[in-house]
Amino acid sequence: MKKRLMPIVTFITALLLIAVGCSQSPQAKEAPHQTKNGSSSKKGNLPNIKILATGGTIAGADKSKTSTTEYKAGAVGVDSLIQAVPEMEDIAHVSGEQIVNIDSQNMDNKTLLKLAKRVNELLRSDDTDGIVITHGTDTLEETAYFLNLTVKSEKPVVVAGSMRPSTAIGADGPSNLYNAVKVAAAPEAKGKGALVVLNDRIGSARYVTKTNTTATDTFKSEEMGYIGTIADDVYFNNIITRKHTKDTDFNIAKLKKLPQVDIIYGYQNDGGYLFDAAAKAGAKGIVFAGAGNGSMSDTAKKGAVKAVKNGLAIVRSTRTGNGAVTPNREFEKDRLLASNSLNPQKARILLMLALTKTDDPERLQTYFNEY
Ligand code: ASP
Repeated sequence: MKKRLMPIVTFITALLLIAVGCSQSPQAKEAPHQTKNGSSSKKGNLPNIKILATGGTIAGADKSKTSTTEYKAGAVGVDSLIQAVPEMEDIAHVSGEQIVNIDSQNMDNKTLLKLAKRVNELLRSDDTDGIVITHGTDTLEETAYFLNLTVKSEKPVVVAGSMRPSTAIGADGPSNLYNAVKVAAAPEAKGKGALVVLNDRIGSARYVTKTNTTATDTFKSEEMGYIGTIADDVYFNNIITRKHTKDTDFNIAKLKKLPQVDIIYGYQNDGGYLFDAAAKAGAKGIVFAGAGNGSMSDTAKKGAVKAVKNGLAIVRSTRTGNGAVTPNREFEKDRLLASNSLNPQKARILLMLALTKTDDPERLQTYFNEY
C-alpha cells in the first residue's frame, strides 16, 4: 500500500513546488536590488562607479543652515561628498577622485581637457563601469557637452551638481549625487552620451541648459524635454539622435590646447569693433548670440565679415534660448555659419573642437548640422 502511494506523493509535491514558483511576482524572481528596468545590479556584483569631483555648490559650505546664496563653493572634498551618502554603497562600489575644487565659472579649457582625458583613461579600464562628475551648475552644461563630444566610450558619464550648499536645510546635493550614481550604474544609460542629473531628472548634455539662478529645477530643455527620470528606479523615455561620444570626429588624447573661441552678445547699437577686439586677443572663432534667428545689426555684420576675411570662423547662435538658427542665404554668402539649435555657450564648445579639425566653413557647418 505504502509503496503504491509513493509515486503519487512525489508527483503532488512536484506540482506544489511548481505552483509556489509561479505565484512569485516576476520582480521577486529577479536578482535582489534589480530595478524595474534592470538599472541596478544585485549586491555583491555591483558596478564600479568613479566620482570625479570638480567643486561647485554641491561641494559648498556655509556657517548658516538657512542661507542658500551666500556660501563658499568648492569647500568640501570628494571624500566628504561620498561619506554624506552611504546609501550609494547599496547600488555601486563608489570611489572618488578630486580633479579640482572650484566654482564652475572658473572652469577653463585646460581643466576641461584634463577632465575629459581622465574620463577616457578611466573608462578604458575594465575596473570602471561608469563615471559621475560633480560640478558647479553655472557652466555645468558646457563641461557636459564637451564630454558628450570627446568621451570615446559607451559607458555612462553623468554630470551632477546642486543648487543648495551641503550645509543648507534641504540641500539637494546628496539626493542628486545618489541619483547620478544610480543612473551611472544603470545598463540603460550606456550609449546615450553625457547625461546631466539634477532634481530627479535626466537630461542630455546636448540639450539641457541652466534656466534659473537659484531654483532647484533649474536644468531644463524646453524643446527636447528630458530623456529620463529617476523615481526610485531609472526610466528613460527619449532618444538622442545627434552624434556623440564614439561617433564624433574629435579625439583629444594628444590635444594640448583648445583654440580660443569667444562669444559676442548681440544688442541694439552693438558695434563691429567687438569682433576686432576678439580677433586682436587671439580668437580663432567667434559665436555671435544674435537676437531672434541669429540676426545681426549692420554694424555687427560688418565686423563679422571682416573677421571671416581675416580667417576667423563666425557662428551665429541666438540669445532667445530656444529654436534653431537657420542657414539664411544672406549670411551664407558671407560664410557666416549657423549654430543650429546649440545655445551660444555650447556652440562655443563645438566650435573649439571643430576648429581642431578644419577651418573650412562648409565642413564647420556640417558639424553644427550633425552634432
Ligand atoms: N557658482 C556655482 C558654480 O557653478 C554655482 C553652483 O554650483 O550652483 O560653481
